[in-house]
Amino acid sequence: MPVVDPSNGFQIAMLCEADEHETGLAVEAAHRAFVERRWSGKSVLQKQQALRRLAELVQGHIDELAWLECLNTGIPLGYLRNIQIPRVVRNLNFYADSLSQHSAPSVVDPNFLRYVAREPIGAVALISPWNAPLALASTKLAAALAFGNTCLIKTAEQTPLAIARFMELTVEADFPPGVVNLVNGRGSVTGNHLVKHPLVRAISFTGGTETGRHIAAAAAHGLTRVDLELGGKSANIISASANIEDAVKGAIASIFTNNGQQCFAGSRILVEREIAPRFIEAFIERAKQIRVGSPFSPDTEIGPLANLNHLQRVTSFFGSARSEGLEILTGGGRPPGLDAGYYVEPTVVLTTSNASRLSREEVFGPLATVQVVESFDQALLVANDSDYGLAAYLWTNDLSQSLRAAERLQAGMVLVNASMTVDLRLPFGGYKNSGLGREGYEGFRNLFTQEKTVSIAV
Ligand code: NAD
Repeated sequence: MPVVDPSNGFQIAMLCEADEHETGLAVEAAHRAFVERRWSGKSVLQKQQALRRLAELVQGHIDELAWLECLNTGIPLGYLRNIQIPRVVRNLNFYADSLSQHSAPSVVDPNFLRYVAREPIGAVALISPWNAPLALASTKLAAALAFGNTCLIKTAEQTPLAIARFMELTVEADFPPGVVNLVNGRGSVTGNHLVKHPLVRAISFTGGTETGRHIAAAAAHGLTRVDLELGGKSANIISASANIEDAVKGAIASIFTNNGQQCFAGSRILVEREIAPRFIEAFIERAKQIRVGSPFSPDTEIGPLANLNHLQRVTSFFGSARSEGLEILTGGGRPPGLDAGYYVEPTVVLTTSNASRLSREEVFGPLATVQVVESFDQALLVANDSDYGLAAYLWTNDLSQSLRAAERLQAGMVLVNASMTVDLRLPFGGYKNSGLGREGYEGFRNLFTQEKTVSIAV
């Protein structure tokens, strides 16, 4: 399959797709490594050392990995260099540290010693999309390894470059053969073979909601454990009491960071009428200043979208806005002077109801809708009127509103006067169609381990 540079559409590499036989060989390798205890049989210290060695290698190759990811995804280099790739190092170190914390309850009574052993589950499939290829894959990988499993990584077929280099680093870090495996190919082919393979014991999936349904069905058939981290259409409520400057800054970051390709983007802005004119004016002014351009340029805030299919999907929302007669406040086309590559303008559309396609479907690009609401209570109702429930944002200076919102918003993550930060100690995941299960230490522990209760007569 061709691998493309989204800033100009040129082919930069070829990817070999794993068929059913090759996917099976990878699963068998992971299974064999597991049953031979090549990884789970290592001491806590040895496991920690291997994870930390890999973290150090990633740290030492941070520029190269950020560059490869930039070339292949179109995400601005500075953001990759300073935020996304350092997350890989943090993920590996966090789970290396967590190994010293693993403990299990034990009970002693007059006739028995009883204890609970938490054991790894086996060969696990880690499937992730193209919007943060290495950051997302490494979160799953670090957790799966810390809990003693062997892994099959399948990242998005469009963005294989940085993960290929990362795999070389896992060899350098001296993980035993078969412990970390990568299979490449389309989701409908390689991904599908992987999730249906009977030796795959758990699936950690991040991606679209429709794909999540397919994977849940495959997992149900195989009685395979599954965690699904899916799409979002998160509301961003701007209360009449908000500090407008902070709210504008937060709303801009929430929708336009990472080229707008974030599952937890605050893509539905709901602003109270009282401050709507002032907020909208300031928000549009800032959106118009966003610099779109080559992801390698240090000035760039938004690079190209990740691939041609995605460009076509995002621009179809511009068409929907026009055919629904909605007012496009800024953007809605290709930025002037950027004729090659998959660029779109940062776009803001004024919606008049929550029924519009733009209010209901995930765009996963630099497009925000703004809807004016009459009251804070109406904002909560509109925010919850969605099939999704990943995140919800609120900008306010009213403590009682913060508490009411925290209680009533149907979302896995509620952020008040704050932007999203991923904290590996805390659950990360969504309500409703945004997912099933949670990432984070506890969620991964439940997915990647099984409990065994042992009773020994004494
Ligand atoms: P996608 O579902 O098309 O693909 C994601 C991954 O799944 C890719 O590796 C793909 O090859 C694989 N895949 C596709 N079909 C498969 C199948 N039948 N069996 C097995 N694997 C299969 O998603 P996408 O369009 O590439 O990514 C964007 C989506 O991901 C958005 O909806 C976004 O919100 C979501 N996302 C969610 C989170 C989260 O944490 N909730 C984070 C990032 C992205």
